[in-house]
Amino acid sequence: MRQTSLKRGNPKVEKRTLSELEQKHDFTRRHIGLSPDDQQAMLEVVGASSLDDLIQQTLPGSIRLDDALSMDDSQTEVEALSYLKSLASKNKVHKSYIGMGYHNTLVPNVILRNVLENPGWYTAYTPYQPEIAQGRLESLLNFQQMVMDLTGMDLANASLLDEATAAAEAMTLCKRSNRKKSNTFFIADDVHPQTIEVIKTRAEYFGFEIVVANPSELANHDVFGVQLQYPSTYGDITDIKSIIDAAKSQNAMVSVAADPMALVLLKSPGELGADVVLGSAQRLGVPMGFGGPHAAFFASSDKLKRSVPGRIIGVSVDARGNQALRMAMQTREQHIRRDKATSNICTAQALLANMAAMYAVYHGPEGLKAIAERIHRLAAILATGLAEKGMSGNSTYFDTVTFNVGQQQAAIYQRALDHGCNLRKVGENQLGVSLDESTTAADVAQLFDIFLGSDHGLDVSAIDARIVASGDTGIRGEMRRQDAILSHPVFNRYHSETDMLRYLKKLENKDYSLTHGMIPLGSCTMKLNATAQMIPVTWPEFANIHPFAPKDQTTGYLEMFTELQTMLEEITGYDAVSLQPNSGASGEYAGLLAIRKYQESIGQGHRNICLIPSSAHGTNPASAAMMNMKIVIVECDEKGNVDVEDLRAKAQEHSADLSTLMITYPSTHGVYEEEIVEICDIIHQHGGQVYMDGANMNAQVGLAKPGLMGSDVSHLNLHKTFAIPHGGGGPGMGPIGVKSHLAPFLPNHGVTPVNGLESDVGAVSASPYGSGAILPISYMYIRLLGKSGLKASTQNAILGANYLTEKLAEHYPILYRGRNNKVAHECIVDIRPIKEASGVTEEDIAKRLMDYGFHAPTMSFPVAGTLMIEPTESESKVELDRFIEAMVMVRQEIAKVQSGEWPAEDNPLHHAPHTMVDITAEWNRAYSRDEAVFPTASTRDSKFWPAVNRVDNVYGDRNFICSCPGVEAYRD
Ligand SMILES: *Cc1c(COP(=O)(O)O)cnc(C)c1O
Repeated sequence: MRQTSLKRGNPKVEKRTLSELEQKHDFTRRHIGLSPDDQQAMLEVVGASSLDDLIQQTLPGSIRLDDALSMDDSQTEVEALSYLKSLASKNKVHKSYIGMGYHNTLVPNVILRNVLENPGWYTAYTPYQPEIAQGRLESLLNFQQMVMDLTGMDLANASLLDEATAAAEAMTLCKRSNRKKSNTFFIADDVHPQTIEVIKTRAEYFGFEIVVANPSELANHDVFGVQLQYPSTYGDITDIKSIIDAAKSQNAMVSVAADPMALVLLKSPGELGADVVLGSAQRLGVPMGFGGPHAAFFASSDKLKRSVPGRIIGVSVDARGNQALRMAMQTREQHIRRDKATSNICTAQALLANMAAMYAVYHGPEGLKAIAERIHRLAAILATGLAEKGMSGNSTYFDTVTFNVGQQQAAIYQRALDHGCNLRKVGENQLGVSLDESTTAADVAQLFDIFLGSDHGLDVSAIDARIVASGDTGIRGEMRRQDAILSHPVFNRYHSETDMLRYLKKLENKDYSLTHGMIPLGSCTMKLNATAQMIPVTWPEFANIHPFAPKDQTTGYLEMFTELQTMLEEITGYDAVSLQPNSGASGEYAGLLAIRKYQESIGQGHRNICLIPSSAHGTNPASAAMMNMKIVIVECDEKGNVDVEDLRAKAQEHSADLSTLMITYPSTHGVYEEEIVEICDIIHQHGGQVYMDGANMNAQVGLAKPGLMGSDVSHLNLHKTFAIPHGGGGPGMGPIGVKSHLAPFLPNHGVTPVNGLESDVGAVSASPYGSGAILPISYMYIRLLGKSGLKASTQNAILGANYLTEKLAEHYPILYRGRNNKVAHECIVDIRPIKEASGVTEEDIAKRLMDYGFHAPTMSFPVAGTLMIEPTESESKVELDRFIEAMVMVRQEIAKVQSGEWPAEDNPLHHAPHTMVDITAEWNRAYSRDEAVFPTASTRDSKFWPAVNRVDNVYGDRNFICSCPGVEAYRD
C-alpha cells in the first residue's frame, strides 16, 4: 500500500540533519500517550490554543514557574541505562555475612521473571476492587498463612514496611491493648540496633519511656510491653519462654521479632506465648537491595485482631455465594478513623509479600526445611571448626555466630574484606558471621582461612561427619519445632517449575493491571512504569548490597542518590531531601518529626496544633496523631477549596500553639487553590510550618514548586508521580524535601549515618536510604524525560483530566472546578444526585466499569458518593475515549433504571460485575447476555473477565477468616 504512494525513483536525499534524526526525545514520546494530533484535538475540546495556554488558564499566576527546570534534558534509554550502569558498577558486590536482618537469598528464577520483572504483577493497584484482584489476594492470603504457620499465631496481616517500623507498630499496639498504667516499653539489648533506634524515635512523641537492657532485668521495671529478638541479633537462641512468662507475670505484652528462616526449625514464638510476632520476609527470596523493598510481617493472637495495623486479607463470599477474597476491616482505616486510626500505614509491600509467599509455595515445607537445615549445618560446621581452634562464639545459634576474636578483630575483618567478604564487627573483640542459603561448603572453608589463616587443617566434610555422629548443633532439642508447617495444599502442589509457572500465570490472569487498560485512580497516579526504568532494579550491583555494607562498597548507590536528591530538590524547590521514608505516610511522619524537632530547637517545642483541611487524606491526621499533635479541622468551601477565613480564624485562635498546617496541593478535590501562597503566609505569621502533602505532584512538576509557594516540607510519593509501580499495594517510597531550616532535623541512622547529613535525629526506617533498590526507577524516570519531558508530562496530565472533565460533564455533574472552569490533573464526578434519582450507587458504577474492561476510579475519596478520575499523561486518546464511551453508556444504563425500563434489582449495574459463570448459567434477566458482558466493540475484541461476582464485604467482616480456606482441616 505505502509503496504505491512513493514517487518512483525519487533521488532526493533525506533533508533532516543527523541531529534531527537522533530522536533525543524518543522516550518522552513513548511516556506520553497523546500524540501531537491528539493533543491538538483535545485542546480544542477544552478551549485552549496550546498546552501553554491551558496551563495559563489553569494554574494561578502566583505559583507558575517562568523558567524551565535547571537540569539536563531527555536522554535516550540507551544513554540513561549505560550511564546508570557506570554508576552501579562503582558498587562492590561483596559476599555479605553481616546479618542483622538482611541476608543473601536465591530468588527462584521462575519468581524473579514472572513476578518481580513482570508488569502483570508489578503494575497492579492495591486490591480495593476485589473482583478483579483475586489473584494477588490469593497470594497475599498465602503470605498470611505462611506467616501464621511459621510464627504460630492466630492471624497475620499482608505486610508492613520493614521490621523496625513493624516493631514500632507493635509497641503502640501493646499500649493500646493493655490496661496497665505504665508508660514504659522494654527492649531487650540483643534486638537489632536499627529496630531499637526506630522504636525510640517513635516512642518519644507518644511519651513512652524506653528501657534497653538485658531481659534478666525485666523484673526491675514496670512495663506495658516488651520487645525481643528471636534468635538474637548476635545469633543466640534465647530462651524467650522464660522472658515471656516473666513479662506475663506483670501483665506486660510481648512482641517477638523473629527470623522466618530460623522459625522453620525453631519452636514458634506463638507456642512460647508471644502476643505479637513480626519480622522481615526478605530472606524468603527477595534481594537485599541495599535495604529494601521487602515485606515485613506482623502476626498476633486472635484477641488483638481489631487492633492489628495494616491490611488483612480476608475470606468472604460473592453474590452467588462462592468464595471470594477481599481486604478486611482495616482497609480504609485511616479514612474512617482519621486521627484515631491504629496506624498511618497505607502503601505496604504487597509485591514483596507475594514474592515471599511464592517462595514458600515453590519450596513447600520439605524444601524450606532442607534449606533451613542446610544453613544451620553450615553454621554448625563453622562454629565447631573454629571452636576446635579456640575461637568460641555463642553456644546456641541457627545461622549466626558471634565469635570472640580478641585482639585479632581488625586483622580478621580486614582479611575478610581482602577476600571480598563482609563480617559484622561487634564491640571491640567480636566478629559476627551470618550464613544463608547462598552459602556453600567452599564459603565455609574460606571463612576458616579468613579466621585462622591458611594452615588450620580443618576439613568441612570431616567436621560435618562428626556433627552428624554427635548430633551436637546450636539448636537444643527442646527448642526444636515439633508442629507441622505449610501443610495447606497450596504449599504442596506447585514444586515443579511447570506447575509453578502455571500457578503464577493463573493468579496473574485474574488480576487487572496496567497491562489491560487504564487505572484512572484519582490521587494515585497510575502512570507508565517503563521497562527501561525497571531493568536496573535487578542488576546484581543494586540488588545484592547489604544496607550496612562498608561505605566504600556503596559508592555507586550513594552517587546515584546524590544526583537524585539534587534533581528532586530542583523539582520541588526545597534545599534538602531525605530518601529514608518507605511510603508517603512514612514521609508525613518524618516531615512532622523534622518540624517538631526544629520547633524545639528554637524554644517552641510546646507548639502541638496541626491544622488539617477536612478534605485531607486519612494518613494526614493519622500521622499527626503519631506525633502527639492535636488536630484541628479546617473547613472547605462549596468549591472544594480550603476556607481561608476559617483557616485564618483557627490559626489566630491557636496562634500560641500552632505547629503545622498539612495541606495537599493541588487539593484532593483536584483544583489549584488560588490562595495557596496566602495560606502559607497566614501559617507562618502565626509561627507555624507548612507541610504540603506531595501526592499530587503530578500536577506540579515543571510548572510549580512547593518550596516556592511557601511550603516548608513535603513528601513525594515516588510510586505515584515518579513511576515506581504500585506493585499491587506496594512497594513505595516517600522521600521528603525540606527548606534549609529543617535540614538538620532529617532522619539519620545510627548504624550507618546518612551520607553528608548533619543531624542527630533518629531513624524512621530500618535502613538509611529506605528501599534503595527501587530508587533507580525514579532516577531513570527523571533522566529519561529531562526538564522538557517532565514539564510536558505534567501539561499532558492536566490536558487529559480537563478533556475527560469536558466530555463527562455532558453526562455527569462535576463536583469542583477551579479558575476558568478548569481542573488540575484529576476530576471528581458526583454520583450523589444520580443515586438520589435512580438508586444506582457509585459502587454499582465502579463494578459495572469492570464489565467494560476498566478498573474503577477512586471511590468515595475525598468526598463520599463520588468517583475521582485521574487519567495521567501516559494514556492515549483512544484509551481516554474508550473510557468516556464506557462512562456515557453507563449513564444511559442508569437512565433506563431511573425510567423504570429496568427494575432496580434486575439490571446490569445491580448485578455487575458479570462473570463467565453468569452467562453460562440459566439466564432470565431483564437485559441480554450480550449487554452484560460485551457492551462495546473493545470488549468484544478483548475481554477481561472478573473472576468472581460482587464480593460481600459485610459478610467477610462478620465472619472474619484470614487463613487459607479449609486450613483447620490441615492443621496438627
Ligand atoms: C497516597 C496518598 C497518601 C499516602 O501515601 P502512601 O504512600 O500510600 O503511604 C497521602 N496523601 C495523599 C493525598 C495520597 O494520595
